[in-house]
Amino acid sequence: MTTAPSSTVKYLLTEDQTPTTWYDVSADLPSPVPPLLHPGTKEPVTAADLEPLFPAEVIAQELGTGAREVDIPGAVLNVYRQWRPSPLVRARRLERELDTPARIYFKYEGVSPTGSHKINTAVPQAYYNHRAGVRRLVTETGAGQWGSSLALACSYFGLDCEVWMVRVSHDQKPYRRALMETFGATVHASPSPLTAAGRAALAEDPEATGSLGLAISEAVEAAATSGGTAKYALGSVLHHVLLHQTVIGQEAIRQFELAEDAPDVVIGAVGGGSNFGGLAIPFLGRQLTGGPAVRAVAVEPASCPSLTAGRYDYDFGDSAGLTPLARMHTLGHAFTPPAIHAGGLRYHGMSPLISHLHELGLMEARAVEQTACFEAGVRFARTEGIVPAPESTHAVKAAIDEALACREAGEARTILFGLSGHGHFDMQAYTDFRAGRLTG
Ligand SMILES: *Cc1c(COP(=O)(O)O)cnc(C)c1O
Repeated sequence: MTTAPSSTVKYLLTEDQTPTTWYDVSADLPSPVPPLLHPGTKEPVTAADLEPLFPAEVIAQELGTGAREVDIPGAVLNVYRQWRPSPLVRARRLERELDTPARIYFKYEGVSPTGSHKINTAVPQAYYNHRAGVRRLVTETGAGQWGSSLALACSYFGLDCEVWMVRVSHDQKPYRRALMETFGATVHASPSPLTAAGRAALAEDPEATGSLGLAISEAVEAAATSGGTAKYALGSVLHHVLLHQTVIGQEAIRQFELAEDAPDVVIGAVGGGSNFGGLAIPFLGRQLTGGPAVRAVAVEPASCPSLTAGRYDYDFGDSAGLTPLARMHTLGHAFTPPAIHAGGLRYHGMSPLISHLHELGLMEARAVEQTACFEAGVRFARTEGIVPAPESTHAVKAAIDEALACREAGEARTILFGLSGHGHFDMQAYTDFRAGRLTG
C-alpha cells in the first residue's frame, strides 16, 4: 500500500475494495441484545411471527444466525458499485477555520443516488423480497430519504413501492415526493384515510402533522392486510438494517489505513441508529476483539431525546401498537415529536442494538438544539462546500464541538463523523434558519 501524501483530502477505495460481507457485532458482544417480543404472548418473536412482514432471508438476519460475517449477495454488490465505496474526506478547510490541532474526517454517504446512506439497506431489502417473489413493498418515510431510497431499490428489482410520508415532511419537502414518484413509487401523506390507524388519527385531529410512529402503523397495517401480496420494509432501527449499514464503517477502517491515522472518536447523528451504527459498529467490533479503543458518540435532537432522556424499556415501534415490542430507549410510542426539520430524527424509539451498546457503556449520547445544528451546518457548508442534511448537522455540530475542545486542551485528536447525507432537498430548512424562523 502506498502512503497518501500529507495534503490528501479524499481517501478513496476502488470498487473491488467494497466490503463483500456485512459485520454482525452480536458475535462479539459480552451479552446478547434483548429479543423482540410478540405483543400478545410477550414471548420472543419467531420467524413465523415476522413472516407477514418480511421475506425469509431478512427474518434470518433480523433474528441472527450467530455468524460474525454475512455474505453480501452479488446482485446487491453490483448495485452498491453505483456509488460505493463512498469517500472518506479530511475536512482540512474546516480544521483551518476552527484553528484546531484536531484532524477531522467525515465519511460521506451523500454520494449515493438518493443522497443518503439509506439506500445501503434499501437495496438488499428489495433484492431479498424480489427473490422471495414479493410484488410490492410498503413503507413509511419521514424526511423522504428512506422513501426515495426504497423507491429506487424497488425500481432496480422490478417491485412496486408504496410510501406513507409523515405529513409535516410531505408539506415541507414536496421535491422528495417528486423524487419518489420519479423512481416509480406511490406516495400518501400520513395520517391518511386509507388505513384504520390513519383514520383514527384524523378523527382525533384533522390537522395532525403525523409522526414516524404513525406512518409505520399505516404501512405495517397495509402489509398485514394485503393478503400476502405486499411486504413491509423498515429503513432503520432493526438489526438487519444496522447490519447492512456496516459497509460504511468497514470501508472507513480501510480508508484510515490509507491515511495512516485512526479515529479517537466516532460521531454520528441518530434517529433510529442506522448510520451511526453502520459507521461506529465495525470500529467497536475491532475494540471488542482486542483492537484500538474508540469513543463512539451518538447525537440526537434535544426535542426528541430518546437515548439521553428516554426510558430503557420494552415498547412498540409504532404508535398504534401493531409491531413487536422492542427493548429500547424510548419516549413512549404515543410521543409526537415537534416538527423539527431533521425529519429523519423524529422517532420516539431507538435501535435495540444501539440501546444495548449504550447500556453496556460502549458508547455515549448527547442531545443538541436545532438552531445550533444549523449554525454548524452553515459553517461546514461555507468551508467544505457540502450542505449537510438537517439530520447530519447534528453530527457536524458535535464534531465541531470536539474540535474546539481539542483547541482548548491543545490536543491533536482524530475525529471521524458520519455525514449521512446532503441537504439539497432541505433548502427550505436553511431558508427558515437564515430568516430566524427556527426554534429548539
Ligand atoms: C434517516 C436519516 C438519519 C437518521 O436515521 P438513522 O437510522 O439514525 O441513521 C440521519 N441522516 C440522514 C441523512 C437520514 O436520511
